[in-house]
Amino acid sequence: MMADISELSLKDGRIITDSETLAKFGKDDSTQEVVKVYKPLAVVEAHSVEDVQATLRFANHHKIPVTAWGAGSSIVNSSAGLDDGIVLDLSQLNQILEINIPNQYAVVQAGVLNADLDKEVRKQGYFFAPDPGSKPISSIGGNIATNAGGMSSLKYGTTKQSVIGLQIVLADGTLINTGSKTFKDNVGYDLTDLLVGSEGTLAVIVAATVKLLPIPFGKPVTGLATFADMKQLSIGVQKISASGLYPSMMEALNDTSIEALDRLEKTDLGNGGVAKALLIFKLEGAPAGAVEALQEILGDAGALHVSVTDDAEYAQKIIQIRQDYYRAEAAYGRLIVEDVAVPLSKLPDLADFVEQLTFTTDVTAFLGGHAGDGNFHPNIAIPRDSDSIPADVQDAISKIFKYVQSIEGTISAEHGIGEIKKQWVLPQLGQELVDLQRRVKLTFDPNNILNPGRKI
Ligand SMILES: Cc1cc2nc3c(=O)[nH]c(=O)nc-3n(C[C@H](O)[C@H](O)[C@H](O)COP(=O)(O)OP(=O)(O)OC[C@H]3O[C@@H](n4cnc5c(N)ncnc54)[C@H](O)[C@@H]3O)c2cc1C
Repeated sequence: MMADISELSLKDGRIITDSETLAKFGKDDSTQEVVKVYKPLAVVEAHSVEDVQATLRFANHHKIPVTAWGAGSSIVNSSAGLDDGIVLDLSQLNQILEINIPNQYAVVQAGVLNADLDKEVRKQGYFFAPDPGSKPISSIGGNIATNAGGMSSLKYGTTKQSVIGLQIVLADGTLINTGSKTFKDNVGYDLTDLLVGSEGTLAVIVAATVKLLPIPFGKPVTGLATFADMKQLSIGVQKISASGLYPSMMEALNDTSIEALDRLEKTDLGNGGVAKALLIFKLEGAPAGAVEALQEILGDAGALHVSVTDDAEYAQKIIQIRQDYYRAEAAYGRLIVEDVAVPLSKLPDLADFVEQLTFTTDVTAFLGGHAGDGNFHPNIAIPRDSDSIPADVQDAISKIFKYVQSIEGTISAEHGIGEIKKQWVLPQLGQELVDLQRRVKLTFDPNNILNPGRKI
C-alpha cells in the first residue's frame, strides 16, 4: 500500500502534490532524449536541514524512492522524480553561510546557484572556479552531485577540485560532515570525493565547503584560431597542451557548429566556408612571450588564421561565441547532447570518427567542446516533432560510445549517467568494479531509496 504523504511532518518545508507541480518535477526539461513524464507521489520543498532529515527518515521507513532536485538542469534525466517517489527540492536551501577570505573557502547551502556565489566572491577579488555552461541556472549541490565540468576545468579541474567538505544526510536521516576546512586532509577514507559525482544515489548534500580562488594576476589573453578540419585542430590542441603555457581554456567547434553560430550571431567565423574548425583559447596571467609562442605553435599546427587579444571587450565577444554554442545548435531541432572524452593523443581519431558518421534521417550533427580536456560533445539535432530518437541517430550514438570505450575513453566526461546512459556503465567498468560500486551503494543506502536505477 502506498504511504500517506500527509503523515510526513516537516519543520518548515512544504509538501506539494498538485498535478502541475508533480508533472514539472517528473521530467528534466534539458534531457531531450526523454519524453516520458514520471508521476511522483509528492514534491517536498525543504526549507531546513531538519526537513531533509525528516523526509529521508519517512521515505526510508516506507521504502519510497527519493530524488534530490537542485535546479533540474540535468541532461541525463537524473533529477526527474520517479513514479510514486518523493522529489526532494533543495532550491530553497539557498543561503551562503560563510565567505572566509583569509582561509579561501565558502560554506554554502546546496541550493545556492553557482553564479550567485561567484558573483558574491568576485566583489572581494575571488572567484568560484567550476563553470558549467549552466553556471547561472544550476545549483552548487547539483554541480557537486554531478561533478560538473566547464570551459576552465582545463586549468582548475572539475567541481571535485573545488570541494573540501560536505554536510550530508544519509538515507536514514543521519546528518554527517565529511572533509574539513583544510585543503589537504588524509584522515579516514575520502568520502567527500566519493560523494562528488554520485548523482544523489549515496546521500543528500545539504551544504558544502568550497574553495575560493583569487582572481589571477595580470591581463588574460584570449584568442581564436581556425583550421581546415577538426583533426588538424586536435593536433594543434595537443601541441599547445605540451607547450607548458597552461591555458585555462581550449574550446573547439566544427564546421556545422561554426555555421550555426554564424547564423545566430550574424558573423562570418567560417570565412565563407573555408574554416571548418575553430579553436577558442584563453591564457590567464600570460607570461612574457606567451602570445608569440602561441602564434608560432598554432602556425606550425596548420592554423589558417590566428587572432589574439588582451582587450577585455573583444575577449568577452570571443567567449560569448562559445557560450552561445548550445543555443545556436538548439535552433536546428531537438538537441541530443552527448559528452565523451578520450586520452588527448586520441582526440584527432575521435574527431575523424565522428565526422565520418552518416545519417539517413534529416538531422544535423555537431561536434565541439572542451578539446583541451579531450572532451567533445557530439550533439545531434533531430526534428522537433520526433516522438523518439531516429534509429540511425541511436545507432550513431552507440557507435561513438563503443569507439570511445575501445580507445580507453569514457562515455560521460561531465554530464553524468542518470538513467539514459546506464547500459554503458557495465561495458566501461567491468562486472567486478560494478559489483564493488553496488556494495558501496548498499552500505550508504541499504533500502535503495536514493535515486534508484540511476548512476550504476
Ligand atoms: C544549458 C545547459 C548547459 C550545461 N552545461 C554543462 C556543462 O558545461 N558542464 C556540465 O558538467 N554540465 C552541464 N549541464 C548539465 C547540468 O547543468 C549539470 O549537470 C549541473 O551540475 C546540474 O545541476 P542542477 O542543480 O541543475 O542539478 P539537478 O539537475 O537538479 O540534479 C542533477 C543530479 O544531482 C542530484 N542532486 C542535485 N542536488 C543534489 C543534492 N543537494 N544532493 C544530492 N544529490 C543532488 C540529482 O538527484 C541528480 O541526480 C548543462 C545543462 C544545461 C541545461
